[in-house]
Amino acid sequence: MKSGGEAEINLLWSGGWDSTFRLLYLVFVEKKCVQPFYIVDTERASTLNELKAMHIVREEVAKKNPQLADLIKPTIIISVHDIKPDPDITAKFNRLREKFPLGSQYEWLSRFVKQWMIQYLEICVHKSDHLSRHIPNFELCIELSENVPNTLVNMLSRYENNDLKIRQLYENDDISIFFLFSFPILKLSKNDMKRIATEKGFLDILEKTWFCHKPWRNRPCGICGPCELTIKEGFGYRVPKISRLRHKIWMIIKYLSKTAKKDSQLLRRKKIQV
Ligand SMILES: [Zn+2]
Repeated sequence: MKSGGEAEINLLWSGGWDSTFRLLYLVFVEKKCVQPFYIVDTERASTLNELKAMHIVREEVAKKNPQLADLIKPTIIISVHDIKPDPDITAKFNRLREKFPLGSQYEWLSRFVKQWMIQYLEICVHKSDHLSRHIPNFELCIELSENVPNTLVNMLSRYENNDLKIRQLYENDDISIFFLFSFPILKLSKNDMKRIATEKGFLDILEKTWFCHKPWRNRPCGICGPCELTIKEGFGYRVPKISRLRHKIWMIIKYLSKTAKKDSQLLRRKKIQV
């Protein structure tokens, strides 16, 4: 199945801040038609919260401007288990992962775009995401990637080459598993997105997005990775009071267990010396 016409943007939409920012920017600012894709990860406890957040976002867009709401096509929802195996992609991904700290989602996302023949699926990795934080000279890479903007493959290929020069990429290169992705918000931080959303008049909708991976009593838990990042990046106001308290307690527990581990290592070393 081929997805997307000329002016249609294929977007991996999770109902979270980053991908919803991109969706709203495309609709409100660029007036482009968007085909959202949502991949159900059965391991994730937040699936229903994410689907609900996406529904709320659609409703809020319709309230502001029904014509713009029509630009968002019905979301295509696929289970991660329905993506066919592809040993070639898996082998390439495994070799890449030995060099880069890549999240496992890139393996099945690559199989997905190939299987569905999607041209340029937009993936919303932002400036301080895990992946971008682990790429050396990230800022410099971004500066130099102006010729082929927003393609992570370009940056990774430079990293692999270690000379920061664009090199020809071939189908057999491991990095080719990124060929069909586009990373439109790599240059933006969450605060940049907040500023732009304020300027363009859709911050109120963006604030209705979901971010927690392990909801607690149907609220953000305060201790999972995305909750921790949300608080760390100055968006703690989005986490309920009770969950912020859980976060504080969790940080103390983490600190104490780290200290206890260090102490026991020291003790063990001393015993060995004695
Ligand atoms: Zn959480």
